[in-house]
Amino acid sequence: MRFCALGSGSEGNAWLLESKSSDGRPTRIMIDCGFTLKETVARLALRGLSPADLQGVLVTHEHDDHVGGVFKLARKFGVQIYSTMGTFRASVQAGLVDQKWLDEDKVRVFNPERAWTIGDLHIQPFTVPHDAAEPAQFTVTDGVHRFGIMTDCGRSTPHIIKHLSGCDALVLESNHDGEMLSRSEYPGSLKKRISGDYGHLSNDAAHEILAAVEKASLRYLVAAHLSKNTNHPDRVLNSWSQTLNGYSGEFRFADQANGLDWQTL
Ligand SMILES: [Zn+2]
Ligand SMILES: [Zn+2]
Repeated sequence: MRFCALGSGSEGNAWLLESKSSDGRPTRIMIDCGFTLKETVARLALRGLSPADLQGVLVTHEHDDHVGGVFKLARKFGVQIYSTMGTFRASVQAGLVDQKWLDEDKVRVFNPERAWTIGDLHIQPFTVPHDAAEPAQFTVTDGVHRFGIMTDCGRSTPHIIKHLSGCDALVLESNHDGEMLSRSEYPGSLKKRISGDYGHLSNDAAHEILAAVEKASLRYLVAAHLSKNTNHPDRVLNSWSQTLNGYSGEFRFADQANGLDWQTL
């Protein structure tokens, strides 16, 4: 199995997962698509793929940096969408998609606690606290390796720790540095939203999760969804140092402009 990001941050997110298949026909899924159609096609091409190569797009929640390009991609290329009912309903209300897509099977609704399979990939969603209608994050396994992703989360829960334990690859939001956020020019209401229980993970809060999950098989660790205004990679390194010091696997940042190149498990 391998994974990459087309981009990560408040201006657009998209991740790709590809199974390793013995018959040469791997399963490829995208998690979120927060880019314009043109941008998505261009970023996919940089990873050697086109939209026709995707067997599905999983949506975490209805915020624009995650869902902005999903329905456009499906409309133009017929890619199957997987969404919770809450995320779909919020997208209908925002005018992003027509309700009839449910009846036409263009959108398949998943229960945010129930696993399902797409081709060679087994997908386990889990719920997270975030200010969206019914947000979900995922672990995905091909039966050999386990990939976990969690961005857009306000705080840790025991449920999250359970799901993110035992991953071979872990993508974890490290959105902001607490001090940089409080010193920023952002209005007070926005600061409160970002740092609240349904907002985004600070570097320290992300590190608490990282410290708590079971890491015996962890070989790829990625810090993602960094704010360009209220964070810096050095701050993440500083905050995560206690765990990183004792960790011998790969560590990467996923960024807005370049995402993250393919990482093979
Ligand atoms: Zn986001
Ligand atoms: Zn969000």
